[in-house]
Amino acid sequence: MEIIRAQRLQKLPPYLFKEIDRLRDEVRSQGVDIIDLGVGDPDQPTPANVIKRLNEAAADPSTHKYPAYSGMNRFRASAAAWYKRRFDVDLVPEKEVITLIGSKEGLAHFPLAFVNPGDVVLVPSPAYPVYNSSTIMAGGVPVEMPLTKDNGFLPDLAAIDPATAKAAKIMVVNYPNNPTAAVADADFYQRLVEFALANSIIVVSDAAYTEMAFDGYKPLSFMQTPGAMEVGIEFHSLSKTYNMTGWRLGFAVGNAELVGGLGQVKSQIDSGAFDAVQIAGIEALEGDQSSLDDMRALYTKRRDVLVEGLQGLGLEVEKPKATFYVWCATPKGMKSADFTKRLLSECGIVTTPGNGFGAPGESYVRFALTVDKTRMAEALERMKKLEL
Ligand SMILES: *Cc1c(COP(=O)(O)O)cnc(C)c1O
Repeated sequence: MEIIRAQRLQKLPPYLFKEIDRLRDEVRSQGVDIIDLGVGDPDQPTPANVIKRLNEAAADPSTHKYPAYSGMNRFRASAAAWYKRRFDVDLVPEKEVITLIGSKEGLAHFPLAFVNPGDVVLVPSPAYPVYNSSTIMAGGVPVEMPLTKDNGFLPDLAAIDPATAKAAKIMVVNYPNNPTAAVADADFYQRLVEFALANSIIVVSDAAYTEMAFDGYKPLSFMQTPGAMEVGIEFHSLSKTYNMTGWRLGFAVGNAELVGGLGQVKSQIDSGAFDAVQIAGIEALEGDQSSLDDMRALYTKRRDVLVEGLQGLGLEVEKPKATFYVWCATPKGMKSADFTKRLLSECGIVTTPGNGFGAPGESYVRFALTVDKTRMAEALERMKKLEL
């Protein structure tokens, strides 16, 4: 029997990081000592108080049953209280907050609730690949908004064709941004609300990196913007903030109708996040926050070693204010893929080619700050022999 995958899968590119992992493993199997600055996965452990809470909660049989579809009331109340403390945003936990099995899960399911076949979704490019693929899986049509150095890696709202804007159902934004490390200010968010209201567009804000910021900078939430609750939903994650990528816990907040639509899809597909993980998540959000200062200090040091080193090699790159990514222009005239290949084959360094996140990322590479500063210095030492 010939088994043929559905057209929606045939339309998707291979998942970027799966492909990069494969190349890394291939080089590693030849005995090369690999320095992995590829995937954005924190190398530090989850804080001890959170692990302890999981152990206790997992031993309690009341957590062993099916969770509530939209999440534990206590977790949702905790997430709402955190938004109030951190951003001064008021949320009704029962209607305006939903637990997710990681924010990727929520971002991937969201278009199923609001996109009809042929509907336009405005997605940034370069970007986290999920916005594009989830649009395609819902039968929608992704239309790219290029993020370039000239526009500060923010979508140029005035450059969006008015007919496309009228046809668009959703716009996705992500600040602090992966992969460019750009940040958004209140003025951009205000213009975004006005644009969304004028064109009846739902705003999806991916806020995975609001807590990973340096030099005293405090990223904003889109939901702080006047009018945002009318048009928007924001996806948040414990993954990067508390080194919990493996735990699969996130949440979305915002307009009750948008949160409700996502909840309806999820109730047909999954049965929620493990209650013990949500209880540990409450501990993460409400317990001792000193791990955040440690995390920020750690990435600041690594960032400084990497960026100053790259600048010393003559590369065009700036210190990011937020995220654990460094978005670096390739040496003059070199394609992203050629530079990442040379870094891997001649230096044993894994990076991500900028164009892998979308065509406007061509001539950039993304470095993730996921190794300690000694290893980072070793990576730079190896790069010297490239003679860029
Ligand atoms: C890491 C990341 C996420 C978070 O994913 P989880 O599913 O919550 O682990 C979301 N968006 C972006 C842009 C990311 O880089």
